[in-house]
Amino acid sequence: MPWFKGNLHTHTNKSDGDSSPEVVISWYKKNKYDFLVLSDHNHLTILKNNNTDLLLIPGEEITLNFPHAIHINAIGIKRLIEPTLKTSKIKTIQANIDNIIEAGGLAEINHPNFRWAITGDELTKIKGAHFLEVFNGNYNTHSYGGGGKKSVEEMWDQMLTEKIKIWGVAVDDSHHFTGEFSATRHNPGRGWIVVFAKKLTSESILKSLRNGDFYFSTGVKLNEISFSDNEISIVISGDEVNPGIANSFITDSKYTSQLITNNGEVLDEKYGKKIKFKLPTLKEEYKYFRTKITSSTGSIAWSQPIFFN
Ligand SMILES: [Zn+2]
Ligand SMILES: [Zn+2]
Repeated sequence: MPWFKGNLHTHTNKSDGDSSPEVVISWYKKNKYDFLVLSDHNHLTILKNNNTDLLLIPGEEITLNFPHAIHINAIGIKRLIEPTLKTSKIKTIQANIDNIIEAGGLAEINHPNFRWAITGDELTKIKGAHFLEVFNGNYNTHSYGGGGKKSVEEMWDQMLTEKIKIWGVAVDDSHHFTGEFSATRHNPGRGWIVVFAKKLTSESILKSLRNGDFYFSTGVKLNEISFSDNEISIVISGDEVNPGIANSFITDSKYTSQLITNNGEVLDEKYGKKIKFKLPTLKEEYKYFRTKITSSTGSIAWSQPIFFN
């Protein structure tokens, strides 16, 4: 099955991005993405004349900033969804997710650590969301946690351990396409997903997204990943580094791959570019298995969890 690279979270000047949808689209096209979601704040950005081979999947970042920063991406929607405020934080998150599902879209919980708005404990009370932003490209969304605050990856493990099926994603949340590209600007090319789908159509990509048929990355590129009842097999290709600056591809990195289960416990760790993890024969105590591949460059690829019970 072919693999398609895409970004689920991008802004244009239809909200607080610095560039027109056309400029944003051309950046992603030039950098060899296959599909893109333009997710402006409380705005459904749809181009009438899209003369590009970059597939655009309609989206919106449903945005509430008071009393809490609750931002939920609606992906694959056909109409604008107005933000809904309820009497509690959890009710507000849930109501917006429910609205997305009712509109036929996929719901992504964005950057929970932005203004430290949502905790792991709160996330375990939310139902029906499809994706969690394990990595968001902006420094002020604090993907890695710290100072006693969980990383979003730790929150993801907490949810999976509570048997909440939710797929992880890496996204750009890009706003800045002009001027200097630097760590303190919200530039594109930092986090993406690679989807295994029959063909490059909205229908096919959305179906694979719903099923969790994708991995997500901040640079590490995979050639192969396959799952069976007793084994996960991975072949690493290399590292894509700094798209938009150098478009470089690094092949001499060293890789550490981990097999991860309940509450983030590392069951096994291997080195090299060709990895095979044997899964335990008795699986009852394991809620899920997932893998994480870290490069010596610092970039990471994550596979989706697989479940046996
Ligand atoms: Zn946001
Ligand atoms: Zn955003």
